[in-house]
Amino acid sequence: MNEVLLVFLYALFTAVATGFGAIPFAFVREISERVTAYSSAIAGGLMLGASFGLVAEGTVYGRGETLIGALLGVAFILVTQLLLREYDSQDLVFGAATGEGAKKMLLMVIVMTVHSFAEGVAVGVSFGGGVTLGAVITIAIALHNVPEGVAISAVLRPQGVSVARCAGWSVFSSLPQPLMAVPAFLFVETFRTALPYGLGFAAGAMVFMVLVELLPEAYEHGDRAQVATVATLSAVGMVLFQQWL
Ligand SMILES: [Zn+2]
Repeated sequence: MNEVLLVFLYALFTAVATGFGAIPFAFVREISERVTAYSSAIAGGLMLGASFGLVAEGTVYGRGETLIGALLGVAFILVTQLLLREYDSQDLVFGAATGEGAKKMLLMVIVMTVHSFAEGVAVGVSFGGGVTLGAVITIAIALHNVPEGVAISAVLRPQGVSVARCAGWSVFSSLPQPLMAVPAFLFVETFRTALPYGLGFAAGAMVFMVLVELLPEAYEHGDRAQVATVATLSAVGMVLFQQWL
């Protein structure tokens, strides 16, 4: 098979895997404020855990670059929030939700989609090191995408978005992976230089999003100690999961 097509198909598989993250929500019947709080805690913990992995990966390519990338990631969320604030929240509609709920969902989808660009580059660059390495990295990213699909669904589902649409948005958030993997594979040297910035950016954006949106929301509606426990265990679980890969 054509090598470029192979890289594309591998990376497309990682995107589809993200959709599996919606499956647990098929079993959550009623959605209360408590469910929303603990869903946010789980989403936040998983994203923190994923960020540790991104920083560790980024520092392999360059420490200063990873840090600069992280600062840019924080700036990106601040600017996005500012732009969303300009927007009268009553006008904003996302699925069944309007106003603040819609804003949070939009921010979540944006953050998770943007962070996928760096992972797509990681897939493409790793294929530059041979098909075996590429396949290993692809499987790792595909598996790590499943809990990220859980994180996205955990934010969308409590707002009344159907399980099928949660899966759809999860897959959407990972579409940059197949899109970026191919150019990164073709121009591997150029992209290798940009990779630590991208990985740092993804981590910075996700950590900031967790701290500024997800955890405050979880604390507001859930018990402090329980929210902190759920978030901590989700973060540690995500790190262990990534190491096991
Ligand atoms: Zn990720």
